[in-house]
Amino acid sequence: MRHAVGSRKRIGVLALQGAFIEHVKMLQGLGVEAVQVRLPQHLDGLDGLIIPGGESTTIGKLMVDFELIEPLRRFGEQKAIWGTCAGAILLSRDIHRTQPLLGLMDITVERNAFGRQVDSFSADLSVPCLSLVSQDPSPFHAVFIRAPIIEKVLNGTEVLARLQDGKIIAARQGHFLATSFHPELTGDDRFHRYFLERVL
Ligand code: GLN
Repeated sequence: MRHAVGSRKRIGVLALQGAFIEHVKMLQGLGVEAVQVRLPQHLDGLDGLIIPGGESTTIGKLMVDFELIEPLRRFGEQKAIWGTCAGAILLSRDIHRTQPLLGLMDITVERNAFGRQVDSFSADLSVPCLSLVSQDPSPFHAVFIRAPIIEKVLNGTEVLARLQDGKIIAARQGHFLATSFHPELTGDDRFHRYFLERVL
């Protein structure tokens, strides 16, 4: 065997509400141990965490109820966190309304930014950073569901992808990654690999 069992990565997926099973399956497909996180002690021994899409108000409320806010903030001081869609909202500093946020990443976000008419859509994105983890040059097919946009990136946060009209929909600040869309809903694992190989 080439890899010692002890070197296998353990990644948590916050499993309070939303599309967490899809992330778990994607991680397992990449040979990573995926741990569903519902309580503070589930964070012990993890190498990183994914906060899935869902409903950020509900996830935030459950984070408060399960006393996860401070443990997640402390986790984020050391370890990588990726927020997809509602997860990106929860990672952000400011969304111009009051609801529980982790406030870990220097981005501001607008919730439900595409309005009712275009509740959900998909788009083929050019994402240059994915070439670091894959030889596949094809665009990334991204699924947006009542998605937020990243309004502003601050303090050296890097923009990873934009829509054709310039709206920012993926960004990275050190060990934090935020995407407006749902990479776990397509069969394409390039974003998960980018998180595991480059952000972790
Ligand atoms: N609209 C949701 C929110 O504001 C996010 C949608 C999603 O995660 N797909 O929390």
